[in-house]
Amino acid sequence: MEIKAIRGFNDILPQEIGKWHFVEDTARDVFENFGFSELRIPVIERTDLFARGIGEATDIVEKEMYTFTDKGGNSLTLRPEATASMARAYLEHQMYSFDPVAKVYFMGPMFRYERPQKGRYRQFYQIDAEVFGVDNPMVDAEVIVMLMHFLHKVGLQTLELQINSLGCRECRPRYREELKRFFEKKSFQLCEDCQRRLQTNPLRILDCKVEGCKESIANAPRVTDFICSNCKEHFSRVKEYLTVAGVQFDVNPNMVRGLDYYTRTCFEVVSYDLGSQNAVTGGGRYDNLFQEIGGLDIPGIGFAIGMERLVSLLPKDRTFLKTPHLFIATLGDETNKEAYQLANELHLRGIRAELDYEGKSLKSQMRRAGKLNASYVLILGGDELKQGKAVLRNMGDKSQEEVPIKDLASLLQSKLPRL
Ligand SMILES: [Zn+2]
Ligand SMILES: [Zn+2]
Repeated sequence: MEIKAIRGFNDILPQEIGKWHFVEDTARDVFENFGFSELRIPVIERTDLFARGIGEATDIVEKEMYTFTDKGGNSLTLRPEATASMARAYLEHQMYSFDPVAKVYFMGPMFRYERPQKGRYRQFYQIDAEVFGVDNPMVDAEVIVMLMHFLHKVGLQTLELQINSLGCRECRPRYREELKRFFEKKSFQLCEDCQRRLQTNPLRILDCKVEGCKESIANAPRVTDFICSNCKEHFSRVKEYLTVAGVQFDVNPNMVRGLDYYTRTCFEVVSYDLGSQNAVTGGGRYDNLFQEIGGLDIPGIGFAIGMERLVSLLPKDRTFLKTPHLFIATLGDETNKEAYQLANELHLRGIRAELDYEGKSLKSQMRRAGKLNASYVLILGGDELKQGKAVLRNMGDKSQEEVPIKDLASLLQSKLPRL
């Protein structure tokens, strides 16, 4: 029987990888300009980290984790997100003793046992950025400014930023109670999931996309009317700093995000590129997460971007594929060794050269050069080769010229603008 990839796990093929590299390179570039460094985290952690960090009453922890027992009897989980691991690493390595402020990012695969559907996988990729150790609203704004700058730089044009404040551990419980009271009166209208959320986490009801629930949600009390004066002040300064930076936003009082650990600022970015509405990213502040996992009182804020979604939104008129600069075609066996040696030299000089390995006819070599989308073809023939020359064909305008082989590398470097 033929072995295939597991459902929900997929390959990213060489034809596609250029887009991924472009997104990853742009993220590194932008984030490092904002003072962030990469923090690489392990794929597997103790299950407790996610149960306590993300929250027992979340969909992730309740239904979606890849959890197993290892041979030592430990309950381990494939990371479903990055923030809890990054916070653990910050504590474990006492990064705060070097500098209380840590700006870190990570990109890599996450794992959730969800129903696979178009564009949604069980192994999916995220770009993640976090700032630990500061609760100044300036940092909230800076993180959002960086995110918007990154999204613009990868080519998304029509973006909508929504923000909200979820309050802190002083004022949030009050809002939670108020919300619970409100939805208890309407519980007969709520979906099954929301009936359960009413007991475990009533804020999550605001997230529900079921029609019947949406009706009750429209009249629900708004978090921004219940947050304490410190949280109000924090939120108004976030808005002020965003305005100073020229970043437009809408306040959406029903945005609660999926995770328990968010406090105060939370945000989402929706893209209207390619004609449809796509939530590309979201994040927020989580000033209680560290206490859940380690006992220290350290504030944090960050966001996660789903790479699959982002890659699918990249401008269609751009090519991200790295095609050969040159295809070396040979006429007859005696030129093979020269072609091989020439390709080696060009590779060392940073030129992507491809050649024929199969002794094919010139016609079929030209066909392959076309299929690979090579910019130029060099035709190495016995007679010209004796004089140190060969024919260089521009595959774009089909023009040809005879060139000295020793000058080929510098000639190509002058013709190919991106070298
Ligand atoms: Zn508060
Ligand atoms: Zn519902």
